[in-house]
Amino acid sequence: MKCASGKTGSYPDFETAIAAALRCSVNLGPLRCYECPECGQWHLTRRKQWVER
Ligand SMILES: [Zn+2]
Repeated sequence: MKCASGKTGSYPDFETAIAAALRCSVNLGPLRCYECPECGQWHLTRRKQWVER
């Protein structure tokens, strides 16, 4: 299911998201993950703050 917020990668739980974040961090630098209020899944973000917008 695609997220209404328009984010690309989504993950079903924290463990999956953090694993993906660590994997991507090798190339992209530090990433954070957060639970999406739109779809209830987890996304990755490069923002320094946990809170969006
Ligand atoms: Zn979402």
